[in-house]
Formats: sequence, C-alpha cells, structure tokens
Amino acid sequence: MTLPSLVTQAKIIEKFGKGAPKFCGIPASSAIHLTPFDPLGKLPGGYNDSKSVAIWTPNGKVSLDVKTWRSIINSFGCESFETLVDYDTPRDAGQKKLLKAVERTRTFHEQLFQQDEKVKGERIVTLGGGFSKYHRRKCAMEVGLAEETSAYSVEFREFSEGKEVDEKEIVELLEETFSPLPPTKLRYIAGPFNPKTILFLIKNGIDLFDSSFPVKLADEGHAFCLADDYPTSSNFEIVDFNNQKFADDFTTPFAGCECYTCKKYTKGYLQHLLNTHELLASILLVIHNITEYDRMFKLIRKSLENSEGI
Ligand SMILES: [Zn+2]
Repeated sequence: MTLPSLVTQAKIIEKFGKGAPKFCGIPASSAIHLTPFDPLGKLPGGYNDSKSVAIWTPNGKVSLDVKTWRSIINSFGCESFETLVDYDTPRDAGQKKLLKAVERTRTFHEQLFQQDEKVKGERIVTLGGGFSKYHRRKCAMEVGLAEETSAYSVEFREFSEGKEVDEKEIVELLEETFSPLPPTKLRYIAGPFNPKTILFLIKNGIDLFDSSFPVKLADEGHAFCLADDYPTSSNFEIVDFNNQKFADDFTTPFAGCECYTCKKYTKGYLQHLLNTHELLASILLVIHNITEYDRMFKLIRKSLENSEGI
C-alpha cells in the first residue's frame, strides 16, 4: 500500500478506525505493507528538510513529518511499514548533502521509535546513502543495527528501470550497505526492475521486490515475456502493443501464456484499446505482466530449490 494515493484521506481512515486495508476493501487474509513512497512516482530533489520528507500526490507536495507518519502507521494498521529516509542523494550530491541526508535519516528513525511512543507493525528499516560507499555504510550502521528491526529496505530509486546502471557500482554499494548488518534479515528493494536486473539483484542478496515493473510496462502499452531458458539466461522480450502492425493481428498476445488476457483477447484488440485510449488496455496488460512476473519468481525459486543456482 503506497501512502501518496491515500494520504489525503488519512484523517478519514483514522476516524473510520478499522485500518486502511479494510477501508480499501482488501481481504483480511492478505498481509499489507505500508510504504511512504510510490515506486512509480516522481521524487524531485530539494524538498526534504530536517523535519520532514516530501511525498507527491496528484494534488501536489505533502511534507511528511515523523509525528504524522507514526499516526498514519498506527491508524492504517498494516502488518509492516518502512522508516523514513532522506532520499535526496543524486549522483552529484556533495559530502555535505550526503552527510545531512544520513543524519536526517537517523533522526527520523530515532524520533519514530522514541520511548513511550507505540508504533504498530513490523519495522522495515530503510537504508540510504546515495552513490557514496562511505555514506551507505554509515547509514546502515546508524539505523540498521537497532533492535526490533524485522527487515531492510534499500533506497535504490536511482538504479531502477530506465536509469543507466553500472553493475559493479551496485555490487559495491550493496556490499557496503549490508556488511555491517546481520545477514539473516530480509532485504527488500522497491521500484521497477526488469527480469535481468532482478536476477542480478537476487544474486547479490536481495530477497524481496514489488510489482511496479509490470505496472510501469502496462502504463506504456507494453507487455513482456521471459525467454524459454529463463533463468539460465536472463533474456526477456518486451512487445509494444501501440505498434500499428498489430491492428489486424488476431492471434493470441503470447502463445502458451495461461493468463486471462492471453486466453480471451488478441494482439489486434489490445492495439485497438491502446489506440482509442481505453482504460481496459492497461488493465489487460497488467493482468498479463503480473502473471508473467509471478511466473518469473516461481522459476527463480525452483531453480534455487534445485540447487542449480541462478
Ligand atoms: Zn498472458
């Protein structure tokens, strides 16, 4: 559950008194995680300060301070939540800015768990530090060793899909982040990552991801399909259904896919829906992409269980 889509209704949810999942009609059997950020939303720099981080809604900026965040965590009543991080650490950030970001992240963490303040749910501690190995390690040591930490979330939006990625740099930053921390806690990275990057991040110790990649592709009119030999190879294909060449193509979008979209619709119909800007286009593409992303994780887990490695 991402806060930007619900923050304007936080007071109503508090009054409702039965938590955000019930407010949204999510079945009680699901475990719900609450994050302050939308993994597909924009986070422009220059808006965080020593008391709050900026989150962005369709109506503009909301400054989220620790007191408000604690109150939202408690009234939303999700199973887990993330701690606040100063994410404003672009590649060109100087030492002063990086140090300030780590200090803010530490302060937000301390304030959230002050004595006598109850915070409901499992703590997922967010680790920042930008592109600096020194500040990644410093941040991890300052907030990551606290007791009652259930898992870690690495602030990694600068490395998500569409950004230029240097694999060696990622390995080094993750090493610096996790070397001072206990190896047994779950490690999570939010944001859209393609099947090749997912394999690479799993090889480097990351356990958990979100489903923003399938949604991002669908929003662009795209669908993806893994190569037959995935995850032995990391290959995959992205098809752009905006392409006019599909207009008279009445074959199934992906032969062999068992999803609702591929069983019921054709390439030509998807192209028509995108061409006429029908909402159904992204719904059908999300159904296929989520099914394929789910299959990807099943294949990876099977490969790990069979000790084939990945
Ligand atoms: Zn499908």
